[in-house]
Amino acid sequence: MNKNRDFNIIDTAKNLGITILKRASSEEYVARCPFCGDSKNPEHGHLYLNISKNVYYCVRCGEGGDVVDLYAKLTGLDRKDAYDELAKGNIPEVKPYKEITPKIKHNSVASIYIRDKVYRAFLNKLTLEPHHRKNLLRRGLSWEMTVNNLYKSLPEEPEQRQEICRELIKEGYNLKGIPGFYQREEEEEKYWDFVDYKGFWIPVKDVQGRIQGFQIRLDEEEKGRKYVWFSSRDKLNGTPAHAWQGVHGKPSEVIVITEGPLKADVAHYLSGVTFVSVPGVTAVKGIEVVLRQLGAKKVYIAFDMDILTNPAVQKAKTKLKEKLIKAGFKVQTKTWDPAYKGIDDYLLMLSKQKNKNVV
Ligand SMILES: [Zn+2]
Repeated sequence: MNKNRDFNIIDTAKNLGITILKRASSEEYVARCPFCGDSKNPEHGHLYLNISKNVYYCVRCGEGGDVVDLYAKLTGLDRKDAYDELAKGNIPEVKPYKEITPKIKHNSVASIYIRDKVYRAFLNKLTLEPHHRKNLLRRGLSWEMTVNNLYKSLPEEPEQRQEICRELIKEGYNLKGIPGFYQREEEEEKYWDFVDYKGFWIPVKDVQGRIQGFQIRLDEEEKGRKYVWFSSRDKLNGTPAHAWQGVHGKPSEVIVITEGPLKADVAHYLSGVTFVSVPGVTAVKGIEVVLRQLGAKKVYIAFDMDILTNPAVQKAKTKLKEKLIKAGFKVQTKTWDPAYKGIDDYLLMLSKQKNKNVV
């Protein structure tokens, strides 16, 4: 039974006191995020409520889950009790987000210098499973790039995870403040672990090639999402990830902006052009700084082609365009045959055609 389908996310969100702002597409509504408090402007929202899957996701703080999670997290109940309350149709008692969050105190994120060091030592202990490498090759990356870009598979056994943590600590790395890592407590003994998903890591690098954090490509879609951040928000001694923007390529006067670090890795490899990836179309805070660091003059926005039918994405694109023009960049929207959703898909088709001609 899919418990998700039993409750409507819009009604539940309203009962939880969440402010719903507007309809974003045929399947989604935008609301104010109760987890991060959302932006200062009360008319802006980052929490997406998907009515066909009854899931939620905040593009600002990365908080997400299904309708039962939403109820559970905002009331402090566990999933089972939250489900029962929802089934009874009870209107919950909800405290404002500021009073809920201190239940577990987050560590603040360690500096990029420290994170890069810890993450690289961490990746050194991992391998890329053949089925993940196959997935990456299918997207158009070369075998060498699957190695150079440091994609790694998540270990499946808890013992493996804890052993890796023990080794890192023994080697002198401090896991406090590193998103993804947290502590478990058993019989008054604490030990380090990291979040448990099935899939592979995609490093998100900055202008200097340092690893800021990771997105995880899940083997199976979870709660409507294929990608999640490597984040240990809401865990003992955990650290939340930020919505990192990635740099894919070297400094250049021409830069292309697209959604998602893996897509940008592939598109950069296939085109040779430098890409900046944003985790979501509205997660563009500070992007002008990244573009300046890269020496950009001309910027192309290349969001997925469903932009043609999605008014929320269109609006986000218009806003980004205005922001970048104001910051002094020349801006153009990049479009292509809408049969290919992402710019990576389109470039892959072109490269296959080219190879056909060569052989
Ligand atoms: Zn949020």
